[in-house]
Amino acid sequence: MTEVPIKSSNANLFILSSVAGGGKSTLIGKLLTEFPFLKFSISSTTRKPRKGDIPGISYNFLSVDEFEKGISNNQFLEWAKVHGNYYGTPRDYIESAIRNNENIILDIDVQGARLVKQQLPNSKSIFILPPSEEIWIQRLIGRGSDDEESIQRRIENGRKELLEKDQFDYQIVNDDLETALQELISIIRPNIT
Ligand code: 5GP
Repeated sequence: MTEVPIKSSNANLFILSSVAGGGKSTLIGKLLTEFPFLKFSISSTTRKPRKGDIPGISYNFLSVDEFEKGISNNQFLEWAKVHGNYYGTPRDYIESAIRNNENIILDIDVQGARLVKQQLPNSKSIFILPPSEEIWIQRLIGRGSDDEESIQRRIENGRKELLEKDQFDYQIVNDDLETALQELISIIRPNIT
């Protein structure tokens, strides 16, 4: 498929990143309810499904072999290794959404955000920040979805990711969820109406 530059389209592409446990998934869920015409880009990953994950909706779950074939076949607009697993954004999906002037939201890490921004500079990148390191770590432990080693890895990676927050077009501090949601809506709404 020939790549469609976003500037020659009325598509809007929003990139959301945060440290693990930053509240990004909850915010995206609420945003999709608020804007039903916003399309969520379903990534592929080699991570094992977690409780609550729905294959084909949360992610397309692939083996390492399948993912690496996808890399060779240029199937990903961007891909990265995050917390030891592969994650990638489907190139065909994004290109066809741009072609069809759709509004798309990506939930990807800071490496992916940088790569998408390089290729599609008109996309809007938003970083969700925890209010403090202490509260962030409490939330990460409190969500109970990761073992101790994964939590440690997410804290180490998160500290590095936080150093990159200034590369984002917008930053939102997720102290109170509803306030953060309203801020997010106020960034997105003017772009899509
Ligand atoms: P989780 O495994 O907790 O769902 O996601 C771990 C991290 O991978 C999150 O920061 C999430 O935003 C990121 N991620 C999810 N999909 C992609 C993707 O397609 N590309 C990149 N670069 N990161 C992704």
